[in-house]
Amino acid sequence: MLGSSSPCPLDTEFSHQIAALLSPPSPESIKDYYDDLVETRKCPGLRVKFSKESGKAIYATKRFEEGEFVLKDPVLVATQHSANKVDCLVCSYCFRFIGSIELQIGRKLYLQDLGLCDKECKETTSSFPEKVCTRELHDVKNNSICNGSNDIGSSTFRNSKSNSIPTEVLQSLMNGTLSLPHTGLFALPSVFDCPGGCKEEHYCSKTCADSDWESFHSILCTGRNEESAQRDAMLKFIEHANGTNDIFILAAKVISHTILKFRKLKRLRFKENEKRAKLDEMDFSLLLEAWKSISMGFKKRWWDCVALPGDVDPSDEASFRMQIKDLAFTSLQILKEAIFEDECAPLFSLEIYGHIIGMFELNNLDLVVASPVEDYFIYIDDLPSPEKEEAEELTRPLLESLGDEYSVCCQGTAFYPLQSCMNHSCRPNAKAFKRDEDKDGEAVIIAVQPICKGEEITISYIDEDLPYGERQALLADYGFRCMCPRCLEEMPK
Ligand SMILES: [Zn+2]
Ligand SMILES: [Zn+2]
Ligand SMILES: [Zn+2]
Repeated sequence: MLGSSSPCPLDTEFSHQIAALLSPPSPESIKDYYDDLVETRKCPGLRVKFSKESGKAIYATKRFEEGEFVLKDPVLVATQHSANKVDCLVCSYCFRFIGSIELQIGRKLYLQDLGLCDKECKETTSSFPEKVCTRELHDVKNNSICNGSNDIGSSTFRNSKSNSIPTEVLQSLMNGTLSLPHTGLFALPSVFDCPGGCKEEHYCSKTCADSDWESFHSILCTGRNEESAQRDAMLKFIEHANGTNDIFILAAKVISHTILKFRKLKRLRFKENEKRAKLDEMDFSLLLEAWKSISMGFKKRWWDCVALPGDVDPSDEASFRMQIKDLAFTSLQILKEAIFEDECAPLFSLEIYGHIIGMFELNNLDLVVASPVEDYFIYIDDLPSPEKEEAEELTRPLLESLGDEYSVCCQGTAFYPLQSCMNHSCRPNAKAFKRDEDKDGEAVIIAVQPICKGEEITISYIDEDLPYGERQALLADYGFRCMCPRCLEEMPK
């Protein structure tokens, strides 16, 4: 642990409340919470079990056959990576692609022309640790269209930095006056703008817009009060997160979520008993209640649990961790300027902020939604002659301008409340797998081998084809030493 002195005065002022917020929930409340969650997910056959020694685990209460669907888990909180926002326009609440194929393509080329892409990509992959930034999904996916199609050579994808499509064409793709062939087969939901008018968030439906507004965004929106200091601070906060680590955006979402839930509980309570005087005493218990879904997930302070990056010398570990703590404090200070709320003051302590981010560091999973643009170009490539050649007259220049990036999927970070309870095994019996019908950000788990009733359901957090030593090294980043049956077999004697 780092030195006990904290730069944050709230840590001392609210130490009792913070201790209560961070104390582990009772086994009974854990059970109730997860039983409820399993029920609302409508995924029969699962039970979360909790033990003090080994934490949470998910067990099968029925038999699953190989390939059978096990669980679809909506996110508790998630965000699209800032650099990915140039590539994909998705719903800010469910992460479905929105607009149209034309809009997706036109917008991306237009933004690339403005030079947004390269700059942002470089900025977000700074030296601050974030596992999720390092996957090169599109590289793997590109092979799918290059293989077996001699018409689209991979060389066409490589030399495509300069965009030859005139701006007017891009604009007509974006505003819907230019249609591409066969895109009717790839229809996407229309775009709903943020009801707060911020132009940053877009949705697939009014339902998603309203849900996001009620759960997170009404506090974080930069649309209203154009001139206010809070709004400026919010913009500064977002900029800081984009330039350092977008895990801070997730933390801000958790805090706004808790405040909004707190306000809702308070309104309900106020209706129930009209005696206003009693409210103050109840406030803290309401805050605890509002915080409940988060309390189920957190583990450690970010600066204590983050893995030491390979390029940091072990002798510099203390100063590295101090740097991480300072970074979190800087981010928190800006966030406080933007959205501080007296009644929920303990949420703005560095101690709580560190734990929220630590929860993401240890439990977060990649959010991935495949791109319909990729499906579209594959479809065109598979058309019979002469339809294919006709279509390609319009589509080929676009594909060439998009280059390597044409198939980039929506990428982000998410906290999945049930999936995060699944333990790791290097010989897992289940895996995350998106079926064709899974077009949003929810996690989908399927069985990779028959799972018996009563068996623990496990997934692999890493590439399980790696040899023993490499697996253990990667898993150390998740904070544990793997003792799964396979590791026990392969452990050097
Ligand atoms: Zn949506
Ligand atoms: Zn907004
Ligand atoms: Zn193992």
